[in-house]
Amino acid sequence: MIAVVKTVSEIKKQVSEWKRMGLSVGLVPTMGFLHEGHVSLIKRAVEENDRVVVSDFVNPTQFSSSEDLETYPRDIEKDTLMCGQAGADVVFNPEADEMYPGDFCSSVSMTGLQNELCGKSRPGHFGGVCTVVCKLFNIVSPDRAYFGEKDAQQLAIIRHMVKDLNMNVEVVGCPTVREDDGLARSSRNSYLNEEERRAAAVLYRALCTGRDMILAGERDCSRVTAVMKSVIDEEPLAEIDYIDIVDALTIEKTEAAEGDILMAMAVYIGKTRLIDNMFMKI
Ligand code: AMP
Repeated sequence: MIAVVKTVSEIKKQVSEWKRMGLSVGLVPTMGFLHEGHVSLIKRAVEENDRVVVSDFVNPTQFSSSEDLETYPRDIEKDTLMCGQAGADVVFNPEADEMYPGDFCSSVSMTGLQNELCGKSRPGHFGGVCTVVCKLFNIVSPDRAYFGEKDAQQLAIIRHMVKDLNMNVEVVGCPTVREDDGLARSSRNSYLNEEERRAAAVLYRALCTGRDMILAGERDCSRVTAVMKSVIDEEPLAEIDYIDIVDALTIEKTEAAEGDILMAMAVYIGKTRLIDNMFMKI
């Protein structure tokens, strides 16, 4: 079993020992309840760094009061086992008050990149993400940090934060790991019952429909999203939060499917909100 570290001072001490030895450090930030998607990030980090820290922390500041902070799935024993098997060296699993003591009063805020997609339906979410990622970068001082393309808006926002604030870390984006029917792996998939799990494959089907229209020459994004919406609407358990096509860099809505674009969606399957996206270079 690899070490589970609970305090900021302990993980800082461990990392500074590694740095003194001239070792490179990779960080994989997660909210735990690990699956094959997380494992792919950890394995990539292990390949590219001498030591790997996986943070396992359900970050309260990125949840609104109506969201699933309390019920978010947790299993630190299984996570630790999976991290060890994937080759990580340590799991950083702080309590909330270790990260946010009572007198905590600073945060990272963003003005751009969060006006569309999840930023619209989850106000405050990306501020919480940036703040915790900034803290993790300061605590772990990684040479490289690994994030999934599954959360494409988050990845774009973190890349921008690192550039804007001159952070000394290389951000590495990793491809989305999917189930056999195309459903993107997600800790929240564990909320789905059997019928909902079957229905959830509709997200990827809709993305593939959009992709095929664009590959066939359609350039009008509103026509593409209209057809994608109709695919989702055929599934009675699904309810659309948003389906949009945006510029992959600026995350702003685009009318024409040209250049680097992102087809992105959030869809409720029953009570569970799932997100997915597909990048295309036209
Ligand atoms: P989470 O624990 O859901 O906050 O995710 C932690 C990291 O794993 C984020 O960078 C996610 O983008 C990434 N991730 C989550 N699901 C997947 C997936 N299916 N494939 C690849 N990366 C993923």
